Amino acid sequence: MTRVAALLLLLAGCLLLISGCAATPAAPATTGGGTTLAHVITPTARLDRVDVAVSFGGTRPARLRVGATRDPTAVSEIRALPGGQALDLHQGVIALPRGANGITYSVDVERLSTRDRWVRRGASAAVVLAPDDLLVRADGALPHDGAITVRVDARNDVHVSAAWNQRRDGAYVVPTSTFLARGWMVLDTQEPWRFDAAGCHFEVVTLAPITATREGLERWLGDAARAVAGGWGTMPPTKALVILRPSNARTFGAGDAVLFGSAMHGGGSTLLLYIDAGADDASLPGEWIAVHEMVHLAMPRVRSGDPWFTEGVATYYQEILRARAGMISANDAWRRLGEGFARGRRQSGRATLRAESDAMNARHAYQRVYWSGAAIALLLDVELRQRGRTLDDAMREMTSAFGSGRRPASADEVLTHLDDWLGEPLFTTTAAKHLASRAFPDVDAALRSRANSAP
Ligand SMILES: [Zn+2]
Repeated sequence: MTRVAALLLLLAGCLLLISGCAATPAAPATTGGGTTLAHVITPTARLDRVDVAVSFGGTRPARLRVGATRDPTAVSEIRALPGGQALDLHQGVIALPRGANGITYSVDVERLSTRDRWVRRGASAAVVLAPDDLLVRADGALPHDGAITVRVDARNDVHVSAAWNQRRDGAYVVPTSTFLARGWMVLDTQEPWRFDAAGCHFEVVTLAPITATREGLERWLGDAARAVAGGWGTMPPTKALVILRPSNARTFGAGDAVLFGSAMHGGGSTLLLYIDAGADDASLPGEWIAVHEMVHLAMPRVRSGDPWFTEGVATYYQEILRARAGMISANDAWRRLGEGFARGRRQSGRATLRAESDAMNARHAYQRVYWSGAAIALLLDVELRQRGRTLDDAMREMTSAFGSGRRPASADEVLTHLDDWLGEPLFTTTAAKHLASRAFPDVDAALRSRANSAP
């Protein structure tokens, strides 16, 4: 990989830190009992405000917590239903009067912190924001999946794109992960476009003019999804929101068509892909970032503190899956893996992989962590093949065992489960050995052995 590509890998890692599989807040132990909160959101035509009405069902909540806790002053005009009594917001919490069966409030989009939103202005305005910033939930408990629903009042011709699944009646069903992991939603004056590939329904929002055509973008994203399905059978998410953010490649110091990406599991599956605004259709097929990020979507949500595992699996498979799909040759896949391992080896020696993975962003240890993880994936794949299985089998087992969990699993939990599945402690012992080592895993023999079979 070139220095530019290395820089991009670094940028991708940075982005992951700020918005990707980002830090997971400690979850309250209980779920929100029998309370249901049916939201109706009405974005204004200028996208500067979202008016929200919430009706309560089941057990009446005593206090509500607003999602926009990073800047609760963005929430105003809070009134109880029925009657319209004005209510205060204190430290992100609204105390409800007896008898209230709902509330209304407004969210000032401009006052959400810039970490939480960005805006496309002009004739084709759009706002990207954290979905929990628009919602309230019962204080002191996380809502169970489906306890919160959202309907969109489109009277102002604003389209809302979210990763949430929709019921037949059009209401979005908000999963608990909305409040546990990063995600985005889009308010847009233009309609998103949609397509299906590899069993996944994609909704695509483009945030600025772009040279590539819709057909070219759909082929690129669809091919990436089909490549991932080649490893897992189908893309495990049945719906994904894709936000394309056209950018100037020169500001990234890169000549690549796709600049970097981030995969998020909050509220469903969201991909954020920075693409060169000048990239044409011909420059997209076969690039690695879309495949890498879709591997993240296909994996269950694993604790963000274990990048050696999540990034290692995605980095190994970005080459393997592209070769299987014919995007690159098998020789190119083995060569690129070998070059990546060499970069990881050059950054090794100063601390154990465990220490480098735990502090990857602070230490800028991206090459070390991504490629050591990929090396461990290769070593496991070779060992499994000697036992008549493959790493694909293990990944499918991981997804079926952990895919629906509301709490992210730790890498250790996943590896222990896979030991049980295999019937011997291959996964935990292989990982423990390399996590405790300052040296890069010895992969030469494994790479030669693996390159003797189909990718
Ligand atoms: Zn990644």
